[in-house]
Amino acid sequence: HDVYGIKKWGKNLIVVNDKGEIGLKNPLNPDAPSVSLPAILEDLDDRGVQVPMILRVSSYLEHEIKHMNDCFNEAIARVGYRGKYRGVFPIKVNQQAQVVDRIVEFGRPFEYGLEAGSKPELVIALAHRLSREALIVCNGIKDEEFIRLAILSRKLGFNTAIVLESPKEVDTVISVAKELDVDPMLGVRVKLTNQISGKWEKSSGDRSAFGMNTDQLVLMVDKLRDAGLLHCLKLQHSHLGSQVPDVNDVRRAVTEACRFYIELTQEGVPLTHLDLGGGMGVDYTGENRATDSSINYSMREYCTNVVETVAYAMDGAEIDHPTLVTESGRAVVATSSMLIFNVLEATHYDAPTAPEAEEGDHHLISDLLAITGYITGARLQECWNDANFYRNELRALFHRGYIDLRQMARAERIYLHLMARIKEHAGFDDIQISDEQLTKLADIYHCNFSLFQSLPDVWAIDQLHPIVPLQMLDQAPDRHAVLTDITCDSDGKVDRFILADGVAPTLPVHTLPEDTPYYMGVFFVGAYQETLGDLHNLFGDTNVVTIDLRADGGFDLLHEQEGDTISEVMSYVEFDPQDCVAEFRKMVDEAISTGALKSKDRKTLMGAYRDSINGYTYYE
Ligand code: PLP
Repeated sequence: HDVYGIKKWGKNLIVVNDKGEIGLKNPLNPDAPSVSLPAILEDLDDRGVQVPMILRVSSYLEHEIKHMNDCFNEAIARVGYRGKYRGVFPIKVNQQAQVVDRIVEFGRPFEYGLEAGSKPELVIALAHRLSREALIVCNGIKDEEFIRLAILSRKLGFNTAIVLESPKEVDTVISVAKELDVDPMLGVRVKLTNQISGKWEKSSGDRSAFGMNTDQLVLMVDKLRDAGLLHCLKLQHSHLGSQVPDVNDVRRAVTEACRFYIELTQEGVPLTHLDLGGGMGVDYTGENRATDSSINYSMREYCTNVVETVAYAMDGAEIDHPTLVTESGRAVVATSSMLIFNVLEATHYDAPTAPEAEEGDHHLISDLLAITGYITGARLQECWNDANFYRNELRALFHRGYIDLRQMARAERIYLHLMARIKEHAGFDDIQISDEQLTKLADIYHCNFSLFQSLPDVWAIDQLHPIVPLQMLDQAPDRHAVLTDITCDSDGKVDRFILADGVAPTLPVHTLPEDTPYYMGVFFVGAYQETLGDLHNLFGDTNVVTIDLRADGGFDLLHEQEGDTISEVMSYVEFDPQDCVAEFRKMVDEAISTGALKSKDRKTLMGAYRDSINGYTYYE
């Protein structure tokens, strides 16, 4: 039974193999056997690479880039569209060199370009040899330096489009272009009035932060015409927001964008490119519905809808079909990374046995113990009520000093045993107690990762990602748990999980094995998570490993980036690790002079301090 809904969200990329382990299938080679994820971890462990880690699967990235471009190109052929598709990858979605370099490499056959939303991102984009027709689209608020670099890059053959976001930017561009005497490639961001649904709805509509309204557009056209630069305005841009749940929102917005394109063309603007921004979503839950964490369309459907909508609009206005540009990064990169960590220990809210009755027990303890005699499926709620009543009464007595610590401990132990019996009776698949009760009884699995560093959107915006154990999937899970991370912050927890039959407050898990690690994987974390993460409690970047899936069921390790050491995270918060070593050494020497320490202790103490400072920030 697929408790975790892996078949739904795994999309035949993440599968369960015949050993009950998570396997990774190579979409570029569908006949190849899946590669066991626990076996990959074992191999990496032998090579000295530990969890927690981000595992990037290069084959997935290559597949998504190819798939998106194929979907657009197939739609173009099917619809009879007389223009090309020239997508760009928005660097902000994952700026890591290993990712951007590979995207450029895999995108080369498709003339795939890059989108830069800031000066540093433009600098990164310009350090890549893009193919001849690939674009660099510059969005965001741009100063003179940004604009100068973008314009000058044209001399090297880059197709760098400066997207005008505001009237002020128009003036800066005109003055820099005049000064450099180079024709810029210009774009304009139009503010669409259609508003999308979903978590990013505020990125669209009148109150969205970027883009020009109709009045500003007209003024811009006049200004560029007066400055003799209207012939440079080639691209129209709009962006709806990330993770658009409903494909009909996309159709509506594209229709509106086309209206602007047609009107601007009729105003004499020589537009050639229609850039529809990002928004293509990821079906995190696999439900294929328009919800916050799911989408009601496939990549193929999205591409067809865009191409068809633009073709109809342009044909109606008898305007040449523009080159289509999209800036979807999430859909391209999310699948390729997974976060993997081990469970360190479990806190249980049950006890296998209850203490025997003892002479002199307080009568409320006897009442509590008596519940064990009438626990049945039919009286579960009554037992729950009674157990909680007696336990709370006993706590009140303990607080006032009427019963001692040992008596209270016996009471708590009986209570926990009752909870175990209630859970047993409730059954695993046929639970008769509420989600709220279940959450109260769930184990806490303490896990070796930082939510704030590795899954910031789970903390900040309740993003859902599939989370599953990587092994024992041929055995029915026998416990329910919520997950906590290794930070000492009570917010560092995960208590919403994607399961086959919906979102649940607890995750079915297995009793932790005694001799082997129990690994968990969090999937689809390639978009936004790595750079949005922070250093809460000074847990740094995890190890990052990039692999390729081989046809024979093995894998190749392409790159390893070691996670932050303690000395690295100290320097991020402006401590000099060497100064700290020196200060610690001084304290040790002072303790030796006062006789509190022996001289030979110095070596041990300094060794322990140095080992820590050079070590990984996570549990080793
Ligand atoms: N383009 C622009 C202008 C954006 O602001 C964003 C992010 O929201 C993107 C592209 C990326 O969109 P997505 O998250 O859908 O990949």
